[in-house]
Amino acid sequence: LAQLFRPLDLLGMVYRTIRQGVIDMEAMYKLIDTPAEIGDAPDAPMLHTHGGEVRFEHVRFGYDADREILHDVSFTVPAGKTLAIVGPSGAGKSTIARTLFRFYDIQAGRILIDGQDISRVTQASLRAAIGIVPQDMVLFNDTVGYNIGYGRADATQAEIEKAAKAASIHDFIMRLPQGYATRVGERGLKLSGGEKQRVAIARTLLKDPPVLVLDEATSALDSRTETEIQAVLRNISRKRTTLVVAHRLSTVVDADEIIVLDQGRVVERGRHADLVRADGLYAAMWARQASERSEGDAEPAVVGY
Ligand code: ATP
Repeated sequence: LAQLFRPLDLLGMVYRTIRQGVIDMEAMYKLIDTPAEIGDAPDAPMLHTHGGEVRFEHVRFGYDADREILHDVSFTVPAGKTLAIVGPSGAGKSTIARTLFRFYDIQAGRILIDGQDISRVTQASLRAAIGIVPQDMVLFNDTVGYNIGYGRADATQAEIEKAAKAASIHDFIMRLPQGYATRVGERGLKLSGGEKQRVAIARTLLKDPPVLVLDEATSALDSRTETEIQAVLRNISRKRTTLVVAHRLSTVVDADEIIVLDQGRVVERGRHADLVRADGLYAAMWARQASERSEGDAEPAVVGY
């Protein structure tokens, strides 16, 4: 009977290997590649950052020509400040982050970093200036050290460990069977959502970009992990221009400005207290979350769902 099953085992292994290949390709695509239509102009200059002011001017964008997703979106995040983007599911929050990273070209308007139009500078220099901590990072099937160092080929082990310490993941890594040489990802040790996020934070710290995009997890981490990660994120965003795609209103209270998106339009903007006073969409979302919190929900609620 064992003889009979061996080919099936082999087939399963081949299938898993191929599937893994596909996942790796997707991971690469998400992290470093772009649709084919995005290219550098032959004489494109490098982006030169000094502070990292981010400015959206009357931006219009749709993934498909016949369906506009962002309608005339404008905002400025001064160098070193934090903008929180909130709004119901599908409002276009992540789309703003994707257009800033130039995964797609916009159809009208301009996106500027320190006064330079991002569609005119080299993509490599643009990507080097922006660090993204995504909702759910796909890890490379490699060591945890490699996953942290990815994007900074010249990083030394000491630098990798320093970043891991700042992201509060060093102690966890030291407890793994082979420390920094432990293999992670689909073929290795599976990390939890919170651990993956810390790896992403460590990677971003190592890259040390002037602009930071934090795409907050929709899936709730346990409250303690959540609080720890929030503290680390607050720390790393302190000196950088930060855009937070926020799903929990509790994280936006301290933002320098909040924009409320609804169906691709900025419908409200201001600081937390102003928006609560304005008694509009934000105030309604805040009231809903506040009542959920007081009902004793262990997990923080998700904005606008
Ligand atoms: P959530 O809070 O649920 O993450 P969001 O506000 O971040 O939502 P986006 O992911 O920016 O919303 O999506 C905005 C709109 O764009 C949605 O209607 C979505 O269906 C559409 N969209 C997102 N990605 C694509 C894509 N790759 N191709 C086509 N349409 C897309």
